[in-house]
Amino acid sequence: MFDTLSDRLSAVFTSLRAKGRLTDADIDKSTREIRVALLEADVALPVVKAFVQSVKHRARGAEVHQALNPAQQVVKIVNEELIGILGGETRRLQYAKNPPTVILLAGLQGAGKTTLAGKLALWLRKQGHAPLLVAADLQRPNAVQQLQVVGGRAEVEVFAPEPGSGVGDPVDVARRSIDFAQRQQHDIVIVDTAGRLGIDADMMAQAAAIRDAVNPDEILFVVDAMIGQDAVTTAQAFKDGVGFSGVVLTKLDGDARGGAALSVRHVTGEPIMFASSGEKLDDFDVFHPDRMASRILG
Ligand code: GDP
Repeated sequence: MFDTLSDRLSAVFTSLRAKGRLTDADIDKSTREIRVALLEADVALPVVKAFVQSVKHRARGAEVHQALNPAQQVVKIVNEELIGILGGETRRLQYAKNPPTVILLAGLQGAGKTTLAGKLALWLRKQGHAPLLVAADLQRPNAVQQLQVVGGRAEVEVFAPEPGSGVGDPVDVARRSIDFAQRQQHDIVIVDTAGRLGIDADMMAQAAAIRDAVNPDEILFVVDAMIGQDAVTTAQAFKDGVGFSGVVLTKLDGDARGGAALSVRHVTGEPIMFASSGEKLDDFDVFHPDRMASRILG
């Protein structure tokens, strides 16, 4: 995903290394090149501006001028600033003091929510938890069945409206799932909600109603990293419409330019918590800003 950006940054560093001592003009030229590389990778403009300003300020300072290896010092600064825009520390799931911990998933249709629900459930089960998956996406034909398939693969129980009970009310299903989880000793409840293809007031209202019914400990906004700049507008709409405590980036295995991944934390102020990188249930991991920065810097 970050191939082009990595290549561009590494070209900047190579030309800096060839210089030995660095003048302010060298720093200005490199930061201009970094700016273009980030813009071409589809990183949101406010993020690019903040990033470049920080790098430039630090690179013109004493830490670079006095360094034995100035170019290496610039690489170090870019690395630290990348970790910063990706969120700094790894953000872990917050578990409820009194189980079950309720995790609500929100995002557009096709973002990868249902797949993610299965991935998260499997990941939690492997750590000794007893998650329950809840099918509160009653909008899309087959969504319930899809969650049941995913739940089967993850070997995790799925709470869904009874067959033949009609469409059902997703808010009611979500509410009942909490009682069910308590009775059945599930310590974590993962609620999958309906998405639409675009930002839609009804979808937001429904997700907000489910949120109010289940009082989640975490609301994870699931976003397809392939949608580039749109990820930022979508994130903002969900932030206003439903609110969220963390972001899950999906489809990091795709060949998009990576801008969404680099922008979403800075723009929403909420941490990226997990990353999904394939269609298999174990193509999933906790998001580590430092590892992602290393990957970008190659
Ligand atoms: P939902 O509508 O948000 O529930 O999205 P789905 O979970 O149904 O996913 C939509 C499509 O994206 C499906 O074909 C998934 O197999 C695929 N998908 C989900 N996550 C990933 C991922 O991390 N990488 C890739 N390549 N495909 C994914």
